[in-house]
Amino acid sequence: MIISNYYNDNEDLKLHFEYLIDWENIIKEYEGDFEDAKKYKETLDERFSMAPDSIESAKDYYKTLLESYGEIAGKEIASRARANDKKGLKLVNGKVIFPEEMIEDLNLIKEAGLLPYSISRENGGLGIPASVQMLISEIVSRADASFSVCLGCVNLGETIENFASEDLIKKWVPLMAKGEYWGAMALTEPNYGSDLQRIQTKAIQGKDGKWYITGTKRFITHGCGFNDKPAVILTLARTGSPDSGGKGISFFLVDGKYVEIAKIEEKLGLHSSPTCEVVYDNVPAELIGEEGKGLIKYAIQMMNGARLSIASQAMGIAVAAYKEAKKYASERIQFGKTIDQIPAVKRMLDNMEQEIIAMRCLLVEAGKTVDMYHWRKQRMLRKGVPEKDVRKDSKIQKWEKLADLFTPLTKFYNSEVCNKIAYNALQVFGGSGYIEEYDIARIYRDARITNIYEGTTQLQIVAAIGGVMSGMLENGNLRQYILEHKNMFSFSELLSQKLDLFEKIVDVYRRIEDKEIKEAYSLEVVESCARFLAGMLLEKSLYLLKDKIQNSVLENRKRIVERYNKESVSILKANLEILQLQQEFVKA
Ligand SMILES: Cc1cc2nc3c(=O)[nH]c(=O)nc-3n(C[C@H](O)[C@H](O)[C@H](O)COP(=O)(O)OP(=O)(O)OC[C@H]3O[C@@H](n4cnc5c(N)ncnc54)[C@H](O)[C@@H]3O)c2cc1C
Repeated sequence: MIISNYYNDNEDLKLHFEYLIDWENIIKEYEGDFEDAKKYKETLDERFSMAPDSIESAKDYYKTLLESYGEIAGKEIASRARANDKKGLKLVNGKVIFPEEMIEDLNLIKEAGLLPYSISRENGGLGIPASVQMLISEIVSRADASFSVCLGCVNLGETIENFASEDLIKKWVPLMAKGEYWGAMALTEPNYGSDLQRIQTKAIQGKDGKWYITGTKRFITHGCGFNDKPAVILTLARTGSPDSGGKGISFFLVDGKYVEIAKIEEKLGLHSSPTCEVVYDNVPAELIGEEGKGLIKYAIQMMNGARLSIASQAMGIAVAAYKEAKKYASERIQFGKTIDQIPAVKRMLDNMEQEIIAMRCLLVEAGKTVDMYHWRKQRMLRKGVPEKDVRKDSKIQKWEKLADLFTPLTKFYNSEVCNKIAYNALQVFGGSGYIEEYDIARIYRDARITNIYEGTTQLQIVAAIGGVMSGMLENGNLRQYILEHKNMFSFSELLSQKLDLFEKIVDVYRRIEDKEIKEAYSLEVVESCARFLAGMLLEKSLYLLKDKIQNSVLENRKRIVERYNKESVSILKANLEILQLQQEFVKA
């Protein structure tokens, strides 16, 4: 295990923070007119004491948070990850027992005042944009993926802030911010996972006008809460008839004190993250938002947020795997030299390095797309602007569409690549990787969940393909977005070649008529899109970093970007050929 400050030892992360993230626009969207800072000056209300009053002070605040998280994650949480993994969880008389190391991890975060990073200041949280939340999630996931899930769950308070009534927000979110209640989301049922439209857990309104839920939910992370604190369980339940589909499902807040934890799963990885079977037996529940919009509006948006946090988790796990492999390869001697000098091993390490910087470009851009519309939208809705008018706001229109594409695209790409990196990192360890002596075995096991939960890779592809295809129409928003970048800096020959290939891929895919073939081969289109966009953002990073960093560092980055784009050209060529063959096969 590598013990250091996980922010300060990560050069690419720091480059993004210092030079590449569009803080100016993100902070303007998040802080508006710096209203919270003004509130503090007027009222001295402690909740707003950390609110920044300028772009610079916001950036300083975020950096302090990242350094503090980096310190605790890299020096404390990382050192206990193995114990958490080995000890795991126990269910005793309906209560889940956590390893004491994990409780210590949480106490450290709480004592440092860092707990509820995605809850607003008003309700006791840190009040930071998605772009910073994602970097925190990456840093913690690198130390211990199970613990990052634990922190992510308490942040579900943000979903309540987004959709619930003022009364519910005031009652529950401050409790979550203090760590008095945990968060959980209960969507999956034994018979319905990807196919959430058919869930059958039932919500009935009693004679007292209150709602009561009966049913069983499976695989519910932290459904048991954490340690001695119960969870607020955001639950999807059917209020319509059994065959009412997605429109018959509503969204509820359930006090976890009243459910039964029937079982916790034994898993391949994430050993200290409780995955619970939750039984509801006529349990009281509060309706969130409008009846019938549970899945189509609230859960979808909640999942989009959670998907980004899994994309960050995948990023953190990938960094952990790469750093472990690099260290091991620099120490292990075979054939009279350290194995990092053996070309086949070096190639694996180089590949991990290039993929990691590509993943981070996508992740950071995905965060920006969310920040550029979400807070503005929330502010307008809070001011009472009707939803139909909010939807007409051109900025919201542009960035929400991009966020709807970047979110599944990044979740797909980062989680798949994270698995490849973990696979190769374990390979670098040889036989030592397969035994539990080193952390890489845990990292490899933990990586495997990232492309399954919060919607499998196949479901991310389903979510992304429409946006790719409509976005690439003549006036499509993805095409416009690419054009904006083309006007900002000149594409290298390699990148232009990638764009050309991507256009051809989109064109061939559009002409495939067979619906089943289209569904089966949408992977090639979405993967090509992700690889083109990552390559474009990497070249943008070279353009933005020019004259800002040492020449040798920039030259090294150029070489890595070129390697990534070269390899991607071959992958896009192969994807084009696969699609062309399908088309010919259908014609024949
Ligand atoms: C550790 C862990 C934690 C979890 N935490 C939570 C939680 O907190 N809350 C919660 O609600 N759920 C949670 N889940 C559930 C998780 O989100 C689901 O397991 C996941 O969405 C997949 O559903 P499933 O397991 O039923 O697989 P299935 O839906 O049965 O899918 C099986 C296979 O079929 C594919 N498939 C299914 N439908 C399609 C389609 N239309 N197109 C293409 N391919 C398809 C899938 O990609 C997959 O490969 C968790 C699961 C695990 C393992």
